[in-house]
Amino acid sequence: MKFGGTSVATLPRWQNIQELVSSRRAEGVRVLVVVSALSGMTDALKHLCAETEAGKRIEAAAGIVERHHALLAQMDLPLPAALERRLADLCDLAASGPGSLGELAWQALVQAHGELLSSALGAAFLTAGGLRTEWLDARECLTAAPLPNQNERTRLLSAMVDSRPDPVLAATLAARGDVFITQGFIAREPGQGRTVLLGRGGSDTSASYFGALLKAARVEIWTDVAGMFTANPRQVAGARLLQRLDYEEAQEIASTGAKVLHPRCLSPLREPRVPLLIKDTNRPELEGTLIGPQVGEQVVSVKAISARKNITLISMESVGMWQQVGFLSDVFDQFKRHGLSVDLIGSAETNVTVSLDPTENLLDSDALAALATDLSKVCRVKVIAPCAAVTLVGRGMRSMLHNLSSVLAEFDQLRVHLISQSSNNLNLTFVVDEGVVDSLLPRLHELLISAGAMRTDDAAMFGPRWDVLYGSADTSTRGPVWWQGPARARLLALAAEQTPRYVYHLPTVREQARRLKRLSAVDRLHYAVKANTHPAIIGALAEEGFGFECVSPGEVRAVSGLVDETVPLLFTPNFAPREDYAWALQTRVTLTLDALYPMEHWGELFRGREIALRLDLGRGLGHHEKVRTGGSGSKFGLPVAQLDSFLKLADAHGVTVRGLHAHLGSGILDPGHWGEVYGQLASLAERIGSVSYLDIGGGLGVPAHPDEMALDIDALDAVLRQVKAVYPQYQLWMEPGRYLVADSGVLLAKVTQQKGKGALRYLGVDTGMNSLIRPMLYDAWHEIVNLSREGEVAETLYQVVGPICETGDVLGQDRLLPSAEEGDVILIAQTGAYGKVMASPYNLRDSGEEVVLD
Ligand SMILES: *Cc1c(COP(=O)(O)O)cnc(C)c1O
Repeated sequence: MKFGGTSVATLPRWQNIQELVSSRRAEGVRVLVVVSALSGMTDALKHLCAETEAGKRIEAAAGIVERHHALLAQMDLPLPAALERRLADLCDLAASGPGSLGELAWQALVQAHGELLSSALGAAFLTAGGLRTEWLDARECLTAAPLPNQNERTRLLSAMVDSRPDPVLAATLAARGDVFITQGFIAREPGQGRTVLLGRGGSDTSASYFGALLKAARVEIWTDVAGMFTANPRQVAGARLLQRLDYEEAQEIASTGAKVLHPRCLSPLREPRVPLLIKDTNRPELEGTLIGPQVGEQVVSVKAISARKNITLISMESVGMWQQVGFLSDVFDQFKRHGLSVDLIGSAETNVTVSLDPTENLLDSDALAALATDLSKVCRVKVIAPCAAVTLVGRGMRSMLHNLSSVLAEFDQLRVHLISQSSNNLNLTFVVDEGVVDSLLPRLHELLISAGAMRTDDAAMFGPRWDVLYGSADTSTRGPVWWQGPARARLLALAAEQTPRYVYHLPTVREQARRLKRLSAVDRLHYAVKANTHPAIIGALAEEGFGFECVSPGEVRAVSGLVDETVPLLFTPNFAPREDYAWALQTRVTLTLDALYPMEHWGELFRGREIALRLDLGRGLGHHEKVRTGGSGSKFGLPVAQLDSFLKLADAHGVTVRGLHAHLGSGILDPGHWGEVYGQLASLAERIGSVSYLDIGGGLGVPAHPDEMALDIDALDAVLRQVKAVYPQYQLWMEPGRYLVADSGVLLAKVTQQKGKGALRYLGVDTGMNSLIRPMLYDAWHEIVNLSREGEVAETLYQVVGPICETGDVLGQDRLLPSAEEGDVILIAQTGAYGKVMASPYNLRDSGEEVVLD
């Protein structure tokens, strides 16, 4: 069990260690505790070493003695003889200075005292508390291994240890006692040689060395976070705890950015197959991250996404011939001469581009300039910096490419300087400009989950979100899941009568409507009826005071027949025929145009009328590229560059632009998005004068996975209120669809047949893409539940498929469900939006009738 500096710095922390060690003893295992120096001590010792005057050094040593005395006093312990001796040694070393030891050897010995002292103190504390604890000198067990290319500095301050299992040592310790405490960070040269340090990440590495030497049951690293996460929680608050990793994946995550574990400390454990467990000292009940040998069949998944900043790219163009012999050799020779290690490589016939990682290289502008000068003798050199390397990590990366399309689409408008796929098939790296990563990473993380590339539905592998564990995440705003409760019996009865069947829960629609009505900045809410045109839902939302957003004459007619005359109706067609506009102008709808064409060719139609104008703000957003409705890749909206032409035409035909509109995509969970759109529309409106309202669209997302966070409506309101404070002259309108109805609907189906084929097990149900096309069209993830087997263990990995003659007729991939039987009722969740309305008669199979529960 290894404890770091803050974990050993105070009395309560030591009481905690005492409890944790006792609990392990109660399991009947022997414990070796590895400790760091008290927090701040290593720095204090480095300062001491840097002092040239003996008087200053003695003063610094006195401060260190004082810290240890103070902690002893807190513990109410007398000064143990062993600690007294070490403190005296330190004072002697401070007084004498390097002397005959030599500067570096003296520094190593002085710095080793941080751990020598904390471990001596710990031995006294644990023993006094009733756990008889043996103090062990790490230098008796860990012997530095001489390496090629070592100089005196690396030999003394950044040593490596040969840690093959040593059964004799293990037996000797076992005979000596049950609880030991020793030092991290230090070792000794062979043959009673000098004290050496292990360099960065040293204490974790010590724990691993001991784990390997003793072939321990496991190594536990106790720290201030529960383990490794799917992304850096400081960048992605929704990052998930990784509960299981194999050594190689963990190594990859550690070396591409995660700070929890130094990448060095995994390799000693690999061969003896000793597992390593990361645990949170303050939250021992959390499962932590268990790293071990690869275990059996696993769902193929991206495990993590990381970003390293401050990357320098060097692009080298051969001035010689095509595929000139020896070009690579000439180039790499220069890197070797300058002592720089290369990380990523991309190559072509006449160009090689490589990256330099600052954590592995002592990079400064002089070092780079010197390298560039020498390189320019053999090629044309270009230095590109600062860049960032964004890396996806997961075993079997190459077999996941098909799941990454929507993720990769995110790189659309970015400059990607280099793409590299590691030869061990564990990572895929993109080098981009450094400035874009902070906003890119959270989006990529979200897309990895929604595209099914990061399989966070596998509860054995992925643990809770970081913000749920440590943040102030408000899980009470989570979407309602009405069908999990007493409604289940009702659903089973409905399915027994007939499947497939869509079932809608009206109270859920109302609940979502009321959530949105809390948006105090919004003046008018409209329901985008294309999400679900069921009359009961339209009726319920009219009662809640919503207006309606329609995209076709059919929708306008359907709504008009259900609501009364005063309810606002918007009509936002796209590439519609002339007749649609002519018809709409005879009705009471608010018409939105989104192209120059109608104004250019049918201008007289609109004479004297007021209209709204839908703009393309130059970018699209959403959970899949097919739902992004902005940017040059999408057919919607008037590009801002054509705004002036539009206004001239409108003026010529006596048309007033009363509203500006933008709708950038669907399934967005970041409140900041609408603030940006609102701000952009408002500043454009100021140029127009006649505008009185701004419609910032819909697209409000609902989380697909049960533990994803809901859109924070209060945060959204705060964002909108900020913009409104600046532009109070404009009314604010919104037009959500999905948010209101998605969670209200479920699709019920029955199991038909099963089939094992290759490694896969197919579970057939009596409807598929004819009822629900979202999984096929958008790679949408819908929760799938076997309603007939509630409470049974999910033990079979199924591909849930429908009966339609299409390979893509898959409702859910790799779903862990209870073993099913013919006739079981399967529920496909969150199908209230874009479900039945997108159904088709394909194969002439029934796409399910609709039932409403109130
Ligand atoms: C589809 C659509 C919406 C609603 O989108 P959701 O993602 O369902 O909220 C709003 N406005 C327009 C113009 C649309 O086409």
